[in-house]
Amino acid sequence: MPAINGDQYLARMKDLKANVWIKGQKITDNICEHPVYKGALITKASLYDLQLKPDLIKKMTYISPITNNRVGLSFLQPRTKEDLEARRHMMKTWALETAGMMGRTPDYLNTVIMTLTASASILSDQDEQFTQNLINLYETAREKDLSFTHSFINPQINRSISYEESTTQPPIAARIVKKNHDGVFIKGARLLATQGGMTDEIILFPSGGKIHDQEQSFCVSIPSNAEGVKFICRESYYLGESTFNYPLSSRFHEIDTMIIFDNVFVPWERVFFYHRQDIAMKLFSRSSFTAHTLHQVVIRQITKSEFILGLAQSMVKLLNLSEYHHIQEKISEMIIGLESLKALLDRAELLAKEDEWGTMVPHTHSLYVAVNMFPKLYPRMIEILQLIGAGGLVSIPSEEDFQSCLFNDLELYYQGTACDAETKTKILRLIWDLTMSSFGTRQTQYERYFFGDPVRLASTLYKGYPRDEYIDIVNDFLNIKKEDSI
Ligand SMILES: Cc1cc2nc3c(=O)[nH]c(=O)nc-3n(C[C@H](O)[C@H](O)[C@H](O)COP(=O)(O)OP(=O)(O)OC[C@H]3O[C@@H](n4cnc5c(N)ncnc54)[C@H](O)[C@@H]3O)c2cc1C
Repeated sequence: MPAINGDQYLARMKDLKANVWIKGQKITDNICEHPVYKGALITKASLYDLQLKPDLIKKMTYISPITNNRVGLSFLQPRTKEDLEARRHMMKTWALETAGMMGRTPDYLNTVIMTLTASASILSDQDEQFTQNLINLYETAREKDLSFTHSFINPQINRSISYEESTTQPPIAARIVKKNHDGVFIKGARLLATQGGMTDEIILFPSGGKIHDQEQSFCVSIPSNAEGVKFICRESYYLGESTFNYPLSSRFHEIDTMIIFDNVFVPWERVFFYHRQDIAMKLFSRSSFTAHTLHQVVIRQITKSEFILGLAQSMVKLLNLSEYHHIQEKISEMIIGLESLKALLDRAELLAKEDEWGTMVPHTHSLYVAVNMFPKLYPRMIEILQLIGAGGLVSIPSEEDFQSCLFNDLELYYQGTACDAETKTKILRLIWDLTMSSFGTRQTQYERYFFGDPVRLASTLYKGYPRDEYIDIVNDFLNIKKEDSI
């Protein structure tokens, strides 16, 4: 099957019937009609439609080396800088469709799977079959255009470095509890999977760093409707279908779920490694996972920042604020952030190099700097929108008000500097949905944490960034000889 369209995706999700729970109730009807899922499902379906549009199909897909079908371009293992550029255009096109508000458009995990598979030989350290298993998963995903959610993180029980979960109690963090000739059995939970219940598959990775219990160190992929898998949704941030009232949350509300595994059986052909945290570390540090995943991330974050700058400038015009220096300074802060991200992305592509597996890899440090910047930049951009909008952001009428006898009042009292009340309201509701609704607050938390704890991201940058050449500059300046150097 070639790259899919939106209807094919929705039909799959309808048939999936994953075990999804929200507020104590199991979703038993068609998930595509459930208010919590509907908006995001329709948006994701529109992305799949987009990739097949006659004027875009060549930009969004490529010819499969196995079947000659056209398949999604985010599965492409880039060999050249032109491939990288093609990936950028593809990912930008999808990001623009959601204004960067959907973190987990399918290109995110397609990219992860592509990068890990490109260096799948690392898995042969445990078993050659595991290398083949990962290649098989990648090829199946590419040819069927499967979508994925993923989960790294254990439930948040006790985060002390010395904490070790008791192995005599029923597991809390998901672990392998049994192995046999046919496969492994997983019991326990993972803290978070965005879009849980609306993807074909779940891919599970071990959480990074030191793991006391090697049974928690495994990598597998299972169907989202595998027996024993349960998704527990957080509170819904969906407020209603009206795109006037809820321009973002009605379309881009990606649910977050905890996943519980109740003795879930995983056949060996779906296991990529187990009991080997050293392989996990090698896979993530040596493969192009970080660079390519961040390539997708930074493209999306730039798209989102452009949208936010557009919103901020719209509000400045609405309220005629541009003469104030602090307003100019605040907008400049956004411009500086946006241009820095763009420069880092360009630099990452400019300095891209082929790795030992022949994959063209963007410059990791440039992208790592970008992803370290964004958890601070994004909340500041949101704060700036709130500071510019001030009281106007809490005094906004609704679609229903405009359709009522209040219309004349609204026209008079809610008009903007150079636009009518309805246009002004549309813009303000959009800013409110991004900065003050529960959807917007979750967006801020997402941008802080989705790629890991920003504190530990900074620590990783510190540890991995070569600095000796800068000490040499100081030594040269002071005429300190190499043997006397600190
Ligand atoms: C909206 C959202 C969606 C997400 N979606 C996904 C998803 O789809 N899949 C997925 O796998 N993950 C997802 N994540 C989870 C994300 O990967 C984690 O939130 C992130 O890695 C941080 O882990 P934690 O939440 O367990 O925080 P914790 O590790 O529990 O941290 C809590 C606090 O303790 C501090 N802390 C804890 N340990 C240390 C330490 N060793 N050193 C220094 N400080 C420490 C942290 O800095 C933080 O302040 C999502 C997160 C959010 C917010």
